[in-house]
Amino acid sequence: MRRRRPSLLPALLGLLATAAPSAAKPRPNILFVFSDDHAPHAIGAYGGWLKPADPTPQIDRLAADGMLFENSFCTNSICGPSRAVIMTGKHSHKNGFMNNGNSFDWDQQTFPKLLQKAGYTTALYGKSHLKGAPQGFDDWKVLPGQGLYYNPDLITPAGKVRIEGHCTDVVTDLAVEWLKTGRDKTKPFMLMVQHKAPHRNWMPALRHLPLYDDAEIPEPATLFDRWEDNAPPARHQELEIDRHMDIHYDLFVDLTPGFTGAPSQKRQDRSAWRNMKRMSEAQLDAWRAHYGPRDEAFRRGDMTGRQLVRWKFQRYAKNYLRCVRGVDESLGRLRATLEELGIDGETVVIYSSDQGFYIGDHGWYDKRWMYEESLKMPLIVSWPGVTEPGSRATQMVQNLDYASTFLDIAGAEVPGDLQGRSLLPVLKGGEAGGWRDAIYYHYYEYPSVHMVPRHYGIRTDRYKLMHFYQFGDEWEMYDLQEDPDELRNIYGEPGRAALLAELKKRLAGLRESYGDDGDVAEMPDDWKRKMRGG
Ligand code: CA
Repeated sequence: MRRRRPSLLPALLGLLATAAPSAAKPRPNILFVFSDDHAPHAIGAYGGWLKPADPTPQIDRLAADGMLFENSFCTNSICGPSRAVIMTGKHSHKNGFMNNGNSFDWDQQTFPKLLQKAGYTTALYGKSHLKGAPQGFDDWKVLPGQGLYYNPDLITPAGKVRIEGHCTDVVTDLAVEWLKTGRDKTKPFMLMVQHKAPHRNWMPALRHLPLYDDAEIPEPATLFDRWEDNAPPARHQELEIDRHMDIHYDLFVDLTPGFTGAPSQKRQDRSAWRNMKRMSEAQLDAWRAHYGPRDEAFRRGDMTGRQLVRWKFQRYAKNYLRCVRGVDESLGRLRATLEELGIDGETVVIYSSDQGFYIGDHGWYDKRWMYEESLKMPLIVSWPGVTEPGSRATQMVQNLDYASTFLDIAGAEVPGDLQGRSLLPVLKGGEAGGWRDAIYYHYYEYPSVHMVPRHYGIRTDRYKLMHFYQFGDEWEMYDLQEDPDELRNIYGEPGRAALLAELKKRLAGLRESYGDDGDVAEMPDDWKRKMRGG
């Protein structure tokens, strides 16, 4: 990692401390802006192929002002579990929230509770996805479950309220209001602004519908991947743009409350249906005015095969990026509010998302796998006077580290049972000696929507080893340096025995160190047959 330029700040602070011992440096505020399913390759500052004119100017500005983590990964690539890991600083098998069907035990130790004890005031707005009343927050307003994109309900300590508008704007408004008038200004704060966007089914604000209309979003190189070299699970999933993305349900063709057809995936995620029904007549009119002529053109095209996949990809990627733009604007508004209040210099601003996502990569949408696109998560931190502007960290970090980091930033004690590491030394630009040289991953939600079986694995700076254990003993291994798209499974290849033995040993070591040993659930025989293509 690049070293930070020598700063005069410590010397100046020393002088100040000498002159006025009582004026201790105030502890920084923390503004955590967190979105849902925002892949790093849909952020300008992260590069990648997905670059139609500047998708994220505000997030890019945050990266220019602070530090971007190039090797940032989740431990379990799905919404609720990722958030539970962040709350607790513990892997899924330790915090008990292994898949979205679980309920989070709010009585357990979480970092917001510890921050409150340390004198911080805390607030949470937007998507919690952990079920139950949040604990550890002085104020909170959260979406029920996935929440709706338009005119969402929010659960508050005083009951349920419905607020008109697009969800990203509604959540931002709540956070801005709390910053200005809601919080206890005698205390430093931890504010978590957690957006629903750009989660499925990717419904942008009306003002963003025209964005990218004339653009052609570049297709990922792996859009027509057939997973020929993978273990069987990759060929038996249900998250293909081709076969599983529904033109009504996911892409809104003809989908209005008057539509009487039966979207094939309605049962899998009813939120799409509820989202359309929640829109006001005026909102629907604007929606129809945009999509109507485009749906007509789609029908006239009478597309099939690869042409249809390409059309679906374009509509999906554009809606996804339009939702991303809303989140990007939210970050801009929140930072402008900090400046307006004169507290931007004493506030750490963080942008992250719960996991990565497939935006046509490997022919897919959704997440769950340990492959790169959904394993990676964005992490950008700007801490005025601490992070060097425009710096990039290469250490392997995870959402597991957030709780320890927040507590460390606040100067609070970090409990010994947390499984992550504070990023403070990295943020300060030091060498962070003895940093981890591999990360551990474990996904559990199967059988379930999209049919990605349970698997765990290890990723080092160069290699990845994955174990699918539910229906037998299937492995995949990749050399990410030679094969960044993970198209050539080198598990079992001649000449790789020593590498494989080393990776298996290190994987076993990680499992032992994190206390993950009881996972080999038996599957029913019919599932095993299905996964083997029988
Ligand atoms: Ca998510």
